[in-house]
Amino acid sequence: MTRHAQALVVGGGISGLVCAYALQKAAIEVLLVETSARLGGVINSVSRDGYLLELGPQSFSATSQLRSLCAELGLANQLLEAPPRAPRYVLVGDKLEGVPLSPPAFFTSSLIDGSTKWALLRDIFGKSVPPEGDESVAAFVRRKFSEPLLDLLVGPFVSGIYAGDPEKLSVRSAFPRLHEAETARGSIVRGMLRPGKSKKRPRERPTLNTFRAGNETLVRALGNKLASTTLLGTRATNVYRQNDGSYHVSLEGNTNDSVSAKSVIFATPTDVTGKLLGQLQPSLRPPFASVEYAAVAVVSLGYAQKDVSRSLDGFGFLVPRSAGLRILGTVWNSSLFPGRAPDGYALLTTFVGGATDAAATRLTHNELSTMAHREIAPLLSIRSHPMFSSVTIWPRALPQYNLGHGDRLATIAENLSRFPGLFLTGNYLRGPAIGACVEQALAVAREAAAAAQR
Ligand SMILES: Cc1cc2nc3c(=O)[nH]c(=O)nc-3n(C[C@H](O)[C@H](O)[C@H](O)COP(=O)(O)OP(=O)(O)OC[C@H]3O[C@@H](n4cnc5c(N)ncnc54)[C@H](O)[C@@H]3O)c2cc1C
Repeated sequence: MTRHAQALVVGGGISGLVCAYALQKAAIEVLLVETSARLGGVINSVSRDGYLLELGPQSFSATSQLRSLCAELGLANQLLEAPPRAPRYVLVGDKLEGVPLSPPAFFTSSLIDGSTKWALLRDIFGKSVPPEGDESVAAFVRRKFSEPLLDLLVGPFVSGIYAGDPEKLSVRSAFPRLHEAETARGSIVRGMLRPGKSKKRPRERPTLNTFRAGNETLVRALGNKLASTTLLGTRATNVYRQNDGSYHVSLEGNTNDSVSAKSVIFATPTDVTGKLLGQLQPSLRPPFASVEYAAVAVVSLGYAQKDVSRSLDGFGFLVPRSAGLRILGTVWNSSLFPGRAPDGYALLTTFVGGATDAAATRLTHNELSTMAHREIAPLLSIRSHPMFSSVTIWPRALPQYNLGHGDRLATIAENLSRFPGLFLTGNYLRGPAIGACVEQALAVAREAAAAAQR
């Protein structure tokens, strides 16, 4: 049987869900297909033994569009905000040092050496021009600031967001505001404080949020709104263009129907999107195939609070690669949000792997939790073995905005422009953060709605 819809969304992660919801709101007859038995993609909150675990993202920054969406879905009173001044730490030697979060703290921090302070002053009072071609994050920090800054702060920060390798990540694609700042003002600091006229965005107070019942609350609310238009356990396998310019998409799984739709929005990771679109135009395959992903293991450990001597007074800590540990960092979940662990217990989530240590995610669950415990125990003065453990391995956790990413996206956009009615949304386009995915999905829904109504 062939189903008919004005728009088909392929993929029910946060990008696809938000896009389908916005299309439905715009009175577009929409259908969403998701290959797995649940919605949400990598957003997955699970309650187990009194712990509330986040198997994927631990929290998110509530951008203004994300806040509006929560309010619209009646979720505003379920949003939780982490203590705004929760300190963040970085491992230096065998100690956790506080990360400076304000300009005065930066200049007095023992983490920042003299050469970095001089470089910062040079940036504030001088003028520089970014190189013509793409530049890696590592090359950018060395050129503008210093090697210690790269090692102690930027590298760990990059692994916190992308689980990425600063030697490979493109500063233009991964941190466009830094590139824009230098282009517009000749200085990172001046450019970040006063962006160029065309780049003005409303200033947002960065907050760290989740929901009382976990990140998946947003997914469930969107899923409820879309219940009658969602096909779970259903994979899109083939796509071709029909004579009237609409698209025919074959499905496999809980239904073997196919769909005919004027607009198709691909909200799938690049390997899937590339294979599907490659059927329409083979030249679309390579740019999708060349987007690398970092594998990440998420290891959540529960301890009796009395067995943890160090105060868990903050967000958690990140680990520079030069420290020689395999863990990338640890989030102190139960310090940030209530209800994450039973009374008297602490929940700590450690990340392992990333672009600089893919082999780590091939360890067994037992090896991963043993290693995470072995490496965090001395840093947090933990005297006992964990009372609880959960390990999730994401073989393709986060897309890497590596050198050439901008060119890859430009090639994709150019090829796709030959197929009116086809759209892309997802975390490889405008940033991997949940807020960025929501923003991009809403923008794509506006375009797709206009196309479907034409
Ligand atoms: C371990 C980890 C930690 C993170 N931490 C944070 C954080 O702290 N803060 C933050 O903001 N972000 C974080 N992120 C990033 C953020 O969670 C993701 O970038 C975002 O959720 C991706 O959403 P998406 O919808 O674009 O992709 P996905 O969630 O990957 O969804 C894609 C969907 O497409 C489906 N699909 C695939 N093939 C098909 C097919 N053929 N047919 C139909 N459906 C298909 C998949 O099953 C999946 O559900 C983290 C991510 C990970 C993995």
